[in-house]
Amino acid sequence: MKVLSHKDSAYARFVKKLDRRAVPGAAGKQVEEIVAGIIADVQKRGNAAVFEYTQRFDGLKLTAKSMFVSEAEIEEAYASVDEDVKKAVAMSKRNIHAFAKRSMRKDWKAKNKEGVEVGERFTPYDRVGVYVPGGKAPLVSSALMTAAFGQAAGVPEILAATPAGADGKINPALLYALVESGATEIIKVGGAQGIAAMALGTKSVRPVEKIFGPGNTFVVEAKRQLVGAVSIDLLPGPSEVLIVADKSANARFIAADMLAQAEHAGDSVVGFATNSKALLTRVQKEIEKQAPKLSREKYIREVLKKGTFCLLTKTLEEAVEICNAFAPEHLSLVVEDEEKWLDEIRTAGAIYLGPLAAVAVGDFVAGPSHTLPTGGSGKSFSGLRADQFQRRASIVRMDQAALKKSLAAVETFARVEGLDAHGKSVSIRVKK
Ligand code: NAD
Repeated sequence: MKVLSHKDSAYARFVKKLDRRAVPGAAGKQVEEIVAGIIADVQKRGNAAVFEYTQRFDGLKLTAKSMFVSEAEIEEAYASVDEDVKKAVAMSKRNIHAFAKRSMRKDWKAKNKEGVEVGERFTPYDRVGVYVPGGKAPLVSSALMTAAFGQAAGVPEILAATPAGADGKINPALLYALVESGATEIIKVGGAQGIAAMALGTKSVRPVEKIFGPGNTFVVEAKRQLVGAVSIDLLPGPSEVLIVADKSANARFIAADMLAQAEHAGDSVVGFATNSKALLTRVQKEIEKQAPKLSREKYIREVLKKGTFCLLTKTLEEAVEICNAFAPEHLSLVVEDEEKWLDEIRTAGAIYLGPLAAVAVGDFVAGPSHTLPTGGSGKSFSGLRADQFQRRASIVRMDQAALKKSLAAVETFARVEGLDAHGKSVSIRVKK
């Protein structure tokens, strides 16, 4: 765990590096090239390439039939999942749908100054793809946090891609959650090959129009490279939390949130910035007290070692500045004057306010999606929302009076742009 005080000589350099941007190549040249190779291969060889990479990375041999989850597998999952899981999935889905309803865009129309009727119309995509990570942990909640938003938006076809184990099995709770969240087809393909199959299509997989969902560096890089063939939601990579707290915060709660984040393992990032030295010391002690009691201590230790930083800032303002430069996926803001400091936060993907707002409640059941921008991409992207499952079209309609009033300006534009046919197409309609 990196612990630095504003008085340390290495502090300024470290803080400067926290000012991130998700630029091409951020994943590293090697990942970029591996992913480009996989995409080109899936484009050229379709199923054959998808099967080859699945065997190489996940140890699973697939066929055109077995790559799809069967009805029998779904029935088996429904029979084996216990009532507690069903209840939790139902609660999460209910809250997601309620949240989605509020963020969905609604059709509108109005008249402009000249009397032209203008408006917007929103319709759900016809066919989308959702990626649900399956590598290190069966992210049952990620099924809900992507697909259920598409379901709420009324998308009729939701293709889900998730890696299966070497035995070809997908966690039954994950399967259950996917089907409950509106997935209409599920393929047992993960990684860049899963994203490429959904975006480009193969002999067996019909391509989708837009791809949603989080994943590891390979998955996120594949989404980035395939923009154009499809649109995407955002770039949600390895999970992160930044906790900004003052002396009023509870060290036990902060340590628990940091450990919860660290158990995501892999490239997860855990940050803590405070202007209180006493709190920093207490949090460090608490981490050591709580970590040995957790089942994933091994993974937690790895993240604490390579992906965790604690900063003692000079002031709270400075901690907030670091937060805006870092653009964390999750921000936990535990300060005396919540509202005042909330106003200063601009780039966080999700903000958890106050000592009792546990990130895990938001991640699993509160309603907003936990599919959030990481790696600094929060500066340009927001978290997944239901309206991203809606296509938008603008509408223009007019009568003679409105047409007449628009004519002079149109003719001026037509003249300066040298497009006289444009001007003609309006004047020809105007009744003299
Ligand atoms: P994953 O499904 O994303 O990745 C597994 C796949 O990666 C494998 O199927 C394989 O095809 C591919 N892969 C593995 N090693 C490879 C290699 N060397 N070369 C090419 N491809 C390779 O599952 P994961 O690895 O467990 O990662 C899930 C990630 O999703 C975590 O980092 C987690 O933090 C993140 N996540 C983010 C959010 C968010 O909103 N930002 C939400 C949930 C999960």
